[in-house]
Amino acid sequence: MDSNNWPECMACNVGCLVPLSDFGAQGAPVHYKAWVCTNPECEFNLKIRNGEIHLGEDIHKGARVR
Ligand SMILES: [Zn+2]
Repeated sequence: MDSNNWPECMACNVGCLVPLSDFGAQGAPVHYKAWVCTNPECEFNLKIRNGEIHLGEDIHKGARVR
């Protein structure tokens, strides 16, 4: 996949959405499990969990204080 061709973020129209991968319970890779906006002011995210799509959950970034 062309890394310069990520879909635009519909929430802010500034960033783009990049896919994140994870590993399943058996260690099998789960590709594109979550998509996150690259704009730090936006934080739009989309996650796929158990076949359901979750939108706009809090992003855990460690010690960041808002
Ligand atoms: Zn965005």
